[in-house]
Amino acid sequence: MNVFYGDVVVVGSGVAGLTCALELSKEFDNIVLITKKFLEDSNSYLAQGGMAVMKSVEDRKVFLEDTLKAGHYKNNKRAVEILIDESQDAIRTLVGYGAKFQREKGEYSYTREGGHSVNRILYCGDYTGRAIMEALIEKVKACSKIKILEKYTMEDLLIHNKVCYGIYARGRENILIRGKKTVLATGGIGGIYKNSTNYSHIRGDGIALAIRHKVGLKDISYVQIHPTALYEEGDKRKFLISESLRGEGAIILNHKKERFTYELNPRDIVSQAIIREMKKEEVSHQWLRLSNIKVDIEKRFPKIYEQLKSMAIDPYNEDVPIVPAQHYTMGGIEVDLFGRTSMLGLYAVGEVACTGVHGENRLASNSLLESVVYAKRVAKSIANSRYVKEYKGNFKINNLDSYRNSEVIGEVIKIDKLAKIK
Ligand SMILES: Cc1cc2nc3c(=O)[nH]c(=O)nc-3n(C[C@H](O)[C@H](O)[C@H](O)COP(=O)(O)OP(=O)(O)OC[C@H]3O[C@@H](n4cnc5c(N)ncnc54)[C@H](O)[C@@H]3O)c2cc1C
Repeated sequence: MNVFYGDVVVVGSGVAGLTCALELSKEFDNIVLITKKFLEDSNSYLAQGGMAVMKSVEDRKVFLEDTLKAGHYKNNKRAVEILIDESQDAIRTLVGYGAKFQREKGEYSYTREGGHSVNRILYCGDYTGRAIMEALIEKVKACSKIKILEKYTMEDLLIHNKVCYGIYARGRENILIRGKKTVLATGGIGGIYKNSTNYSHIRGDGIALAIRHKVGLKDISYVQIHPTALYEEGDKRKFLISESLRGEGAIILNHKKERFTYELNPRDIVSQAIIREMKKEEVSHQWLRLSNIKVDIEKRFPKIYEQLKSMAIDPYNEDVPIVPAQHYTMGGIEVDLFGRTSMLGLYAVGEVACTGVHGENRLASNSLLESVVYAKRVAKSIANSRYVKEYKGNFKINNLDSYRNSEVIGEVIKIDKLAKIK
């Protein structure tokens, strides 16, 4: 078997994995980054709406309250304070890596989504994720300290005496990547759902391995259902109709073309209202009316406009069919405020991790922010962490498939059922 060595092994090429790798490269010379498909194939790349930020000191209290309220006060308040206090620094970091956010006359433009009391979301058209990720990918590719392994799937963790020393992965060949520290940035569990806005290959691998190796989890039954995915028959990934459209004035209607909910409530409330109404009317979807929004749809939301056009829907004159779909995993591998898991040598960041920032329900546009803020903290924490004695012996390894067929992954699927809307 081919063996690679890294000071740090990073698994996953979403915004969390790439930011962490780049920040680590300021301290270490040899980082190995692996990803299941290509660098671009992440949920981060799909993000539309934007990235929240504390606009000014006056916004701190309101942003904190908005996040706690959306999370039904089940959040870890300290983790939220860090998220907010380090948000401007996170934006500066991304801009430093080349990300561009919308500006008007030199000043940032801010939009709004459900649960936010004010406009505080930075964006780039309706393709904010792509704009951020293209900048990060360019930087990672240009960084000689980061070795990139695409089309490799992490199948197991290398563990000895309850310490993690890297991973085992399969791709063109089976490989071991031995590392002093390992960072899981493998995203959420959306891929195991029939109706999800997430990529199907991002399906809780990190969480399955954590369960297998008895690494602590937190809030794992908290799964977010987005109110407005584009309704299409069939099992393929559901296209998201960004909440920013509702921020700009789009309204939700039932089949009698009546409003039945306040569109800018937090996501769980709006999703529950839509599902209740669908049951009442015995229909498979509801409608989103865009014709009355304040901005030009084609200019402000080009990706959504193109998608609707390709389905022969004219958003200026026709209502758009929408249905709630799985969107985000609030729970995950339990981490402290520096991304440390319950296993020595193992860190988690981004959607796979649970810092407790989101509580029971994530406030819109807080996940890109969480990924960047905590990726920076993980990198700092690894740079300052104590030396773990190298282990040179062999490891007992297994394949993910065997876990999937076992009781272990059964638990993840049971969790999926638990997460149904009340
Ligand atoms: C359609 C859509 C729109 C969204 N819009 C927004 C938004 O506007 N604002 C916002 O804040 N958030 C948004 N989100 C959520 C946000 O994009 C994600 O929560 C966040 O980007 C997660 O980043 P991540 O790096 O943790 O994981 P991801 O971006 O999901 O990346 C996970 C990575 O891990 C890799 N991976 C998984 N398993 C393995 C394995 N076994 N071996 C190797 N690699 C593996 C994957 O290939 C991928 O590269 C949106 C999500 C979706 C789906």
